[in-house]
Amino acid sequence: SRKLTKSNAHFKKALTRLPLGVASNFRYWGDDRTIYVKKGRGGRIWDLDDNAYVDYRLGYGPAILGYADPRVDEAARQGMEVGGVFALSTEREYEVADRIAKMVSSVDLVRFSNSGTEAVMAALRLARGYTGRDSYVILEGGYHGLFDAVLWATSLDRWDPETTDEDPPLVPYSQGVPELVRRLLQITPMNDANRLEDLFRKNGDRIAALLIEPIQGNCCGITADPEYVRAARQLCDKYGVVLIIDEVKTGFRVAKGGVQELMGVEADICTFAKAMANGYQIAAIGGREDIMRKYGNGVAHGGTYTAHSVAIAAAAKTLEILDETPALETIAAYGERLQAGMGRILNDRGIVHSFAGHPSMGGLFFAEEPPTNYRDWKTSDYTFYDTMAAHLHDEGVICEPDSREPWFICEAHDQSCLNDTLAAFEAAV
Ligand code: PMP
Repeated sequence: SRKLTKSNAHFKKALTRLPLGVASNFRYWGDDRTIYVKKGRGGRIWDLDDNAYVDYRLGYGPAILGYADPRVDEAARQGMEVGGVFALSTEREYEVADRIAKMVSSVDLVRFSNSGTEAVMAALRLARGYTGRDSYVILEGGYHGLFDAVLWATSLDRWDPETTDEDPPLVPYSQGVPELVRRLLQITPMNDANRLEDLFRKNGDRIAALLIEPIQGNCCGITADPEYVRAARQLCDKYGVVLIIDEVKTGFRVAKGGVQELMGVEADICTFAKAMANGYQIAAIGGREDIMRKYGNGVAHGGTYTAHSVAIAAAAKTLEILDETPALETIAAYGERLQAGMGRILNDRGIVHSFAGHPSMGGLFFAEEPPTNYRDWKTSDYTFYDTMAAHLHDEGVICEPDSREPWFICEAHDQSCLNDTLAAFEAAV
């Protein structure tokens, strides 16, 4: 079985300089199972001990074409020739903005950021500046980044729907999130348009934005009913609430026009990151012209590293490939093949299962139907999934170690990756 001698030794060393021995809490998988990457190529990664894995995390989505894609890396190298950041704009920003506006029908104008968190922060501020209102609503189960305003969840720990009509209490995800933020925020369950309407009816004149992630990347891809998203669109229009669709995970992945195209809905503002530059650090805020023109007309936006010449060159090339080649169809077809293969293995053993999300970011559930909201997702039993995931790692396939994230597919997950994956999956199951 897999040896982690070097990763284990490195973990001990890293622990002396990095909390949990890692650069992000989510990269810590336990003292004995935390691995360190030596390199990634295509759909695979190698750890310090030279164990090879087919990787379905892809950095939580960014590596849409595969790791170290030569086309994107060559573009990034040319971007490096430009010279970095200048406290001035470069020509290529227009090219990327124009491409995004042509791919995503709700987008007229674009600004850039460095991460998903930063883009959503900017979008929320823009919505507030535009409406002159302070409050906002998010959906249970959505993840929108690491800033105080969105690091909240409903706590189901001591909440029993049998004995209470009250909603579960709102709790911060983290220590250090100030209590007073709670006053501006409301969380409502996905797929319940009546609840949303109630909320808007009571507080609509104070709500700046409804911030949603119609395919919830942090809940294994559980998905809003498109009818619900369209109803939310209408309610936002009725109450003058800005609809922000967070496409940080879905953008340039589930369709050229993102989840908005898939569901036939247009946001007022949307946010992108991850897949837009195949892993280079860039994000974008796009939206309707009258809203976006508030930037530079009352609403602050900036950032030292915004539209860095390397990242913007990588974005230009990645988006060109996603727009002009059948890459997204290939990715979806690989995802379908993977799910069909898993389905056969599970059916042979009489194991009930279902998939959520989109083939390019699909969640696997051991139930007849996938959950459709956070409360059902959170209260399901994932013992089998999580145990299977640990075995899969030992067999050379990396998926999220707990049932939190969907399986991300890239253009480099070719038949050889899929064959290796299904053999490992059969052994793990
Ligand atoms: N929004 C969504 C939908 C995300 O999935 C994420 C990251 N997982 C973020 C925002 C935050 O992005 P970042 O990690 O780049 O700050």
